[in-house]
Amino acid sequence: MTDYNAPLKDMLFNIHELSGLDRVLKLDRFADFDNEVVDQVVEEAGKFAAEVLSPLNIPGDEAGCTVLDKGVISPPGFADAYKQFIENGWQGLEVSPEFDGMGMPGVAGAAAAESWQSANMAFSLAPMLTSGAIYAIEKHGSAEICATYLPNMTGGGWTGTMNLTESQAGSDLAVVSTKAVPEGDHYRISGTKIFITWGDQEFSENIIHLVLARLPDAPEGVRGMSLFIVVNDDGSIGERNDVYVPSIEHKLGIHGSPTCVMAFGENDGAIGYLVGEENKGLACMFTMMNHARLGVGLQGVAISERAYQLARSYALDRVQGKAPGVKGSVTIIHHPDVRRMLLVMKSQIEAMRSAAYYTAGAQDLAHHSDDEAERAAAGRRVALLTPVIKAWPTEVSLELTSLGIQIQGGMGFVEETGASQHMRDAHILPIYEGTTGIQALDFVGRKILGDEGQAMAELIAEMRGLDGALADDERLAEIRASLSDGIDQLQTATEWLLQQGPLDPNAAGSASVNLLMLAGTVVGGWQMALAGLAIVNGAAADDPAFAEAKLITTRFYAQHILPRGRGLAIAAMAGPDSVMALSEDLF
Ligand SMILES: Cc1cc2nc3c(=O)[nH]c(=O)nc-3n(C[C@H](O)[C@H](O)[C@H](O)COP(=O)(O)OP(=O)(O)OC[C@H]3O[C@@H](n4cnc5c(N)ncnc54)[C@H](O)[C@@H]3O)c2cc1C
Repeated sequence: MTDYNAPLKDMLFNIHELSGLDRVLKLDRFADFDNEVVDQVVEEAGKFAAEVLSPLNIPGDEAGCTVLDKGVISPPGFADAYKQFIENGWQGLEVSPEFDGMGMPGVAGAAAAESWQSANMAFSLAPMLTSGAIYAIEKHGSAEICATYLPNMTGGGWTGTMNLTESQAGSDLAVVSTKAVPEGDHYRISGTKIFITWGDQEFSENIIHLVLARLPDAPEGVRGMSLFIVVNDDGSIGERNDVYVPSIEHKLGIHGSPTCVMAFGENDGAIGYLVGEENKGLACMFTMMNHARLGVGLQGVAISERAYQLARSYALDRVQGKAPGVKGSVTIIHHPDVRRMLLVMKSQIEAMRSAAYYTAGAQDLAHHSDDEAERAAAGRRVALLTPVIKAWPTEVSLELTSLGIQIQGGMGFVEETGASQHMRDAHILPIYEGTTGIQALDFVGRKILGDEGQAMAELIAEMRGLDGALADDERLAEIRASLSDGIDQLQTATEWLLQQGPLDPNAAGSASVNLLMLAGTVVGGWQMALAGLAIVNGAAADDPAFAEAKLITTRFYAQHILPRGRGLAIAAMAGPDSVMALSEDLF
């Protein structure tokens, strides 16, 4: 079984040294919590992941889900695991006590979610979507709606789903065509949504669908969308609503998670209730999506960690070939190239974890600080980093789960080891919640050009501000030099974008993904530098092996990963010429 104690140390190190938790715990909202409680919660979440969720991961992949009489049955064991999950109160971990939640800091929630996602991504998508729905309802629902739905969702008796996508409306949600017709105190919803994660299952009493739809007289495009709650009651609580799942998708990965076609209103129209104001659904939707984007980024960290653990065990065990200075055959971890692959995995996982937890900490400040300036600064940082945290770890997870297979050679390619499942499961991450291309457009468009580079300038200045402290210790020389170079690349590429973006309509689009990946790589380097600095300043002094390992992964990241930034910057600044030159018929 996967060893969840292995990442636990790194999780706790990141939580306490790098996420800003100390400051977060001083906020009124979190007055009831201290470091010890956070540690206990993270450890218990890891145990639940290892003991309950992890054993269901491979069987869930093999069994998949089935549709019976327009209702979905989840893989064997999932219903019982869900019962235990909600009995432990996990669904309410971050939810406000006002709605029966525990109200824990987001950093604790992020670390707990990482363990669950690592153990069983297909299962953990269900609570992740419920969290996003809770969050959106809390922010945009009326007092009555909040009181009706949130306590039941917090307890996990009711799950939540997100219904945006239609066959003609994927990345482009402006063309959503599901209809909502007013009728008394409610609306009648009709239309077909596709690809809806956990759109149905048998293990919760009720399902609360958040559905994006259009009123009859709504303006065209994104300004004409509204958000509705459609309750999937099967008749046991109220009246059977007109929403069914005619089919689910057969897909590359996450077989344990049903991806549903949702038929709303095929008969009389499904009854729905408005969340927020009419035609203001976009804002509600973004609340839900931004929440989910950070969650999906963490899934990238989580699946990479699991792939790493499997690859590491194999490398420590598999005997093959000879190594200089060692008698007889050796385990493959002796070979420099296998070590390189493992370190490409380990160092990037640590950097991505740290960046994701840091962003979760900033989000706590953005939401709950009583200092207006602090709230605003944290809000700008979260907005800038959200597309980066969604896209960079998920793209890297494809590289790392692939390396996980490569390290295991042929055994990685056969299904029984589980390595290929990680790669299959990871493949959805750069697609849903907005593809990498869409995240990158948000990053260069709204987040950099949109504020004339202010938020990026603040980030760059803060990252540069670390240089003096790094200069004080020889052990940080490599990360200091490499980070400084990475920041230079990021600054130069950002300046290029600010100059070229307004001049050429294709400049931003052709540079966008490279610029986003550059930002992720450099932010990861910044986090690794901070981690190294914490270690030389005495953090983890009680665990010299961990401290030594961290300094080594920091050095490896400086030498092997941060230099990728140069290539990314060159490609970003090459401009759109060659990208746009080839005529369509020559592709
Ligand atoms: C397993 C699974 C689960 C899902 N779960 C949910 C869910 O719970 N709820 C929900 O509402 N949806 C869900 N989705 C839908 C998912 O969010 C969409 O698939 C995703 O947003 C991409 O849309 P699309 O598939 O239509 O691709 P398209 O929009 O057709 O994109 C195809 C390609 O074109 C690129 N592209 C498109 N437009 C642009 C542009 N303007 N600029 C640059 N590049 C562009 C994309 O980046 C992509 O590479 C799920 C999908 C899957 C496969």
